Amino acid sequence: MKKKETKEFKAESKRLLDLMVNSIYTNKDIFLRELISNSSDAIDKLYYLSLTNDDITIDKDEFRIDISYDKDNKLIKISDNGIGMNEEELEKNLGTICESGSLLFKEENEKKENIDIIGQFGVGFYSAFMVADRIDVLSRKYGEKDAYLWSSEGASGYTIEKDSRDNFGTTITIYLKEDTDDFKYSKYLDDNTLKGIITKYSNYVAYPIIMKIDDKDETINSMTPIWKKDTKDVSDEDYERFYTDTFYDYEKPLKVFRNKVEGMASFTSLLFIPSHAPFDYYQKEYEKGLALYSNGVLIMDKCKELLPDYFNFVKGLVDSEDVSLNISREILQQDKQVETIAKSIESKIRKELENMRDNDRETYEKFFENFGMQLKFGVYNDFGVNKDKLKDLLMFYSRKEEKLITLKEYTENMSKKQEKIYYATGETKEKLDMLPEIEAFKEKDIDVLYLTDYIDEFALKTLMNYDGKEFVNIASEEFDLSTKEEKKKLEKENKDNKDMLEYLKDALKDKVSDVRFTDRLKNHPVCLTSKGAISSNMEKIINSMPTDENIKSEKILEINKDHAIADKLKALYDKDKDELKNYAKILYAQSMLIEGMSVDNQSEITNLICDIISK
Ligand code: ADP
Repeated sequence: MKKKETKEFKAESKRLLDLMVNSIYTNKDIFLRELISNSSDAIDKLYYLSLTNDDITIDKDEFRIDISYDKDNKLIKISDNGIGMNEEELEKNLGTICESGSLLFKEENEKKENIDIIGQFGVGFYSAFMVADRIDVLSRKYGEKDAYLWSSEGASGYTIEKDSRDNFGTTITIYLKEDTDDFKYSKYLDDNTLKGIITKYSNYVAYPIIMKIDDKDETINSMTPIWKKDTKDVSDEDYERFYTDTFYDYEKPLKVFRNKVEGMASFTSLLFIPSHAPFDYYQKEYEKGLALYSNGVLIMDKCKELLPDYFNFVKGLVDSEDVSLNISREILQQDKQVETIAKSIESKIRKELENMRDNDRETYEKFFENFGMQLKFGVYNDFGVNKDKLKDLLMFYSRKEEKLITLKEYTENMSKKQEKIYYATGETKEKLDMLPEIEAFKEKDIDVLYLTDYIDEFALKTLMNYDGKEFVNIASEEFDLSTKEEKKKLEKENKDNKDMLEYLKDALKDKVSDVRFTDRLKNHPVCLTSKGAISSNMEKIINSMPTDENIKSEKILEINKDHAIADKLKALYDKDKDELKNYAKILYAQSMLIEGMSVDNQSEITNLICDIISK
């Protein structure tokens, strides 16, 4: 009998094998996905051949992939009735790796790059060496009568010899490695483990993947994915069930959209907007991303490159034939196809949201309550590069409309004379509605946006203006609703009482940068406004953040010139300057409280008040 000749792998293959055997790829489970995909490809090839060749009479229903295992001998078999390989093909396909790969290999030197290489090209078959210390491939090509057995124990080389097989197709036998402390290879010798891996990665392979369970054939995969079915065959309930099952949500999604794109990158996407924020949404652990499939085969659960941060709430998947099955996480970031797909998905989501805003306002409001914060962050983050894409998706509470409105609606509703967009910041809209500064707006019938999320003002500051109209915080000194005449009167009042106001300012030391009379308060005695870019609200927020930054807004204490308190102050300035100091302290504390801020000298203030009322 002729002695079997052991052939060496080509140099590149050998090194790849080394990598696999030493398995730096942490997810070993994918070996099964790779072998099943190869089987599915082999069946595809035969099926396409049968479509063009009348001599091949094979019924599509006969195609199958069988998975079995033998606990005693610690082996797994993957068998298909695809096109099969003859001797030369076994040699060519499994003895070497592709040319493009060899180029890259010359460049590799570091371990990290090795990972890239594994992801880059057809190492599918070799991945089985992560779990096997021997692999047999018994294959018979369709239309030929001889079968061949390719066998290898890894880097030492491989043998090919003639063998027999009842039918065409390929059977791959994986001889599992011995268990180690680090990894239990024997875990694969189990129905549930194998079923789990098959349904996770190969659920939508187009041919049945069959396991014998309790002596009966059981098809493990569900074959046609819901996103590949004819749209008219899928009901809303089907999508909803798919969503709740896949994303473990107890509530059905707020919105479902399925989309097919042909072009630079062809893909199908099935996207969902959840009807509530996931429990971990605002935690660091929350991971954004869409599942990425390559023609029905899962590449990864959460491909974060497919979603911008501001749409991180979207769930779903993308299936594209243009993305290689072996693409790795490292490569994804630079992959042009993935980038094209991501762009298209981003604009699709945006259009869907705009559509919802215009045609299904109630749903949009619900959406905005849950995820609007993320859009506002999107405006503010990255120095505002995305602000124009997002500004029309924002909504804020309108004083006049008493509901959420868009910035466009605000500007459309304002009178021709109004040049600015006014807003107020505070804890709740009820509290804002009681702000002293608001009264003037009510009287003049001007709308004010009530901002109650801490990010709101930062987002508006990033936008700077909408449609050329500047945003103005009503608690800033810039804002002014008065007429020329009123302005003149006020100026005079401030001038006439310059010394008294200066005295008040000194009494408050570094707490305020100015004290002045105002005419913007109707019935209220005082208010606090801020000067410059940082409002007192922003000061409160920034200083509450866990950073070293400590900022101070420049505050101005404004006193209602028409309030009885104004006369009282003037009188005290002439009669009792010490008492005036106490008044200054109380009025400042009052203005802080009304702006929703805390006073740091409570006991001094309450004692002062008590002194005065008991007089
Ligand atoms: P890839 O599948 O990315 O080409 P693999 O290393 O997984 O790379 O496989 C190499 C080649 O071996 C395949 O292209 C295919 O021609 C052949 N092959 C692998 N598995 C099978 C199979 N089950 N049936 C027929 N041919 C196969």
